[in-house]
Amino acid sequence: MRTQRQVVDYSLQKRAVLRELLAGRVGTYDVCDASPYLKNAARFHGEPTDRRCPICRSENLTLVHYIYGDELKQSAGQARTLTELPVLAMTLREFQVFVVEVCLGCDWNHLVEQYLLGRDGLTGDSDGTSERDAAGAEGTGRRRREAQR
Ligand SMILES: [Zn+2]
Repeated sequence: MRTQRQVVDYSLQKRAVLRELLAGRVGTYDVCDASPYLKNAARFHGEPTDRRCPICRSENLTLVHYIYGDELKQSAGQARTLTELPVLAMTLREFQVFVVEVCLGCDWNHLVEQYLLGRDGLTGDSDGTSERDAAGAEGTGRRRREAQR
């Protein structure tokens, strides 16, 4: 997405949690605690992925995008589909997106990344490099398919 900025990647934290789980220092009940709200958001606004759940390995992960920001008013804290985000990014100056991965099989959930979107990002960042960096090697193929939809 063209206006994406200030990306924070939480994959290190996720790997740390999975390590703790493998070592038996935390139980699956500690990490597989998706709330009914999160699971509903995943069902109705989630973005399916082709990545297997790291815990149960029988379901694919769903990504949920939560939006926060003063400009959103009563919509703040709601989940949005990935296709709705560029529209919001063109109409609002700045808002925060939190991406959470959820497994609808075993209730595993973890924050994946957060970033800012909005028209404020259009100034001085027009070469598109930040977009490539943010997509990463793993997400690139999926993003490309989405763009063709
Ligand atoms: Zn699972």
